[in-house]
Amino acid sequence: MKKQNISNKILNWYDNNKRHLPWRKHTSKKQKQYFTLVSEFMLQQTQVKTVIPYFENFINKIPNMQSLAKVNSDKLMKCWEGLGYYSRARNLRKTSKQIISDFKGNLPENIEDLKKLPGIGDYTSRAILAIAFNKPIIPIDGNVERVLKRIFCLKKKNEITKDNLNKKIFFFGKSKRSSEYAQAIMEIGALICKPKNPICIECPISKNCISFKKNNFEIKSKIKFNKIKYFEAAIYNNKNKYLLIKNDKFNFLKNLLIFPMREVEKKKFISSISRKINIKISNMNMKIILNKKNEKPKIKNGYMLDKNNIESKILPSFTKKIFKSISKY
Ligand code: SF4
Repeated sequence: MKKQNISNKILNWYDNNKRHLPWRKHTSKKQKQYFTLVSEFMLQQTQVKTVIPYFENFINKIPNMQSLAKVNSDKLMKCWEGLGYYSRARNLRKTSKQIISDFKGNLPENIEDLKKLPGIGDYTSRAILAIAFNKPIIPIDGNVERVLKRIFCLKKKNEITKDNLNKKIFFFGKSKRSSEYAQAIMEIGALICKPKNPICIECPISKNCISFKKNNFEIKSKIKFNKIKYFEAAIYNNKNKYLLIKNDKFNFLKNLLIFPMREVEKKKFISSISRKINIKISNMNMKIILNKKNEKPKIKNGYMLDKNNIESKILPSFTKKIFKSISKY
């Protein structure tokens, strides 16, 4: 089958099967840029189904680039609350300010300028160029990588390099509908070429897939290591109010409200008889001793927060998990 026919088949499958995601709605070119920017920031490190309600709420509250550039920190963080990796929100606002000041409110249409914007790396700039500007680029995310590995049955280390995947990316040619073509390959990975049990019977490219022919779907996956770190949190309360601090000490959850904490040795964690909790954050597995204090720790930037009031405050889910755990004391 000719390459053109295969790319048409992929697009045809996409037209009939794509998910109706809020950032894929038909809208003006300018709004498409904004939707793509916000969704790509949110999708860094977070799954599509988690992002959907956050995206909808964000666009309702902060509907365009101008309002994002002007939004205050409280409102921005409230819209991002629970999504994690809060530096993304801060970078998103910085980027919008730069777009307004340096590019007259339009996202730049080239990779060099995009990569100079805060929070935009190689993948995100390619995704923006493909999706918002219809450039003939297919950014390689985890889904696309898996589709490529399966189609060419790539198993060896020297086959799974960035260069080799980039060479193979236009395996079925290009299309004038570059934006949808890129999203179609991503969507094949997300919906049918799944990590376990790919649904090859529904796949528009099964006839061209080596893994399908060989009935060998195993893929070499990257092994992620979660660092284990040990902490002690000071839980001080007076009536219903709990002491929190604005975090300027740790690189994670920067500037957000957390319980006063310090890192401790593993042996201290093991020997402690206080209540303990595990929380996963970024690529870190945190094991935390919840140490009740009768005396208020000597801390400069502390706030006494009413535990009945936490829903109205901008708190990371990390802090909410600790609140939930101590409420069972
Ligand atoms: S045929 Fe199966 S293994 Fe090959 S790309 Fe399609 S879903 Fe993936």
